[in-house]
Amino acid sequence: MIKTALITGITGQDGYYLSHLLLNQNYRVFGLVSPHRQTNLSKLGSLADNVKIYTVDLRDAAGLLTAVEQLQPQEIYNLAAPSFVPDSWNDPLGTLDLITGTATRLLDAVRQVGLSTRFYQASSSEMFGDVTTAPQDEETHFRPKNPYAAAKLHAHWTMVHHRQRYGLFACSGILYNHESPLRPPQFVTRKVSLAVAKIKLGLAQTLEMGNLDAQRDWGFAGDHVNAMWRMLQANQPEEYVIGTGKLHSVRELIATAFDCVGLDWEKYVIVNTNLLRADEHFQLVANLSKAKNKLGWEPKVSFEQLLENMVKTDLEYLNS
Ligand code: NAP
Repeated sequence: MIKTALITGITGQDGYYLSHLLLNQNYRVFGLVSPHRQTNLSKLGSLADNVKIYTVDLRDAAGLLTAVEQLQPQEIYNLAAPSFVPDSWNDPLGTLDLITGTATRLLDAVRQVGLSTRFYQASSSEMFGDVTTAPQDEETHFRPKNPYAAAKLHAHWTMVHHRQRYGLFACSGILYNHESPLRPPQFVTRKVSLAVAKIKLGLAQTLEMGNLDAQRDWGFAGDHVNAMWRMLQANQPEEYVIGTGKLHSVRELIATAFDCVGLDWEKYVIVNTNLLRADEHFQLVANLSKAKNKLGWEPKVSFEQLLENMVKTDLEYLNS
């Protein structure tokens, strides 16, 4: 049987890699795209010919119910979000409505239609927030520190409630930072890879950074979307922490990226204290034991390979 999957946020980084994975497995893939956004479908690249677009406002509960009724998906991946965390302070209510509201509306649509649709919610390690222990696992307490994380946590619990009360096959992946050449430039990995490529090509001279000691668990988006898919193929719906389990500092990130083009980072990087963030002392790092044991999932792409790919792609992009 050919399976149908619905994806919100299909034009994002994860939407791209997940569509690629699902199309390779012969799914019919529908992206739910809002009529009010100037969504750039060219972000789907060569996948655009094979992905189907269904136009619906994610704030429209009746529209989402119709989408679920008409398309009868076996799987729904709810990925849409304003994903750059600092932006959530500018629009906390809009962030809440998109993240929590969309999850609630979609889960409710599945419940009303009475389908056995499997549902994936894109949760985030940001929900752990102000952590007191590291690494974190599925039992770690949530202490979100920003409107984005609070909205993700509300969506996460809404997913749990629909599973417990209505018996839906609803899962969530608590994902740590995952990157790729498709990451927008406001994220630190892409900021660095783009700057390194520009410096290598003589298009820039310096790179301004904030706290070089801040640490993150950075993985490859292509690996992480594979975990999402595995969650929906499992026997039981559950939540999983998904990350590499390895912390790297921004300093290591920079040094590794400059290494890719044979340059010494210390000659180019300027620390700008205006870019320091107040809340970067915490150690968000995954304990991926449950995903390993129950899903057979492990990241395949190393930190070094990830950065090499990002820098190489940016060099090609700037040269084209
Ligand atoms: P992304 O690249 O920023 O993509 C976000 C997607 O959401 C885009 O398709 C975007 O559409 C859509 N979107 C944003 N605002 C919307 C709105 N108001 N109405 C409808 N669609 C809207 O994010 P990502 O990196 O793929 O992440 C996927 C999901 O995983 C997100 O929920 C994110 O919060 C979560 N997550 C990501 C990470 C990570 O490190 N990447 C870690 C943990 C959790 P447009 O193309 O129209 O902008």
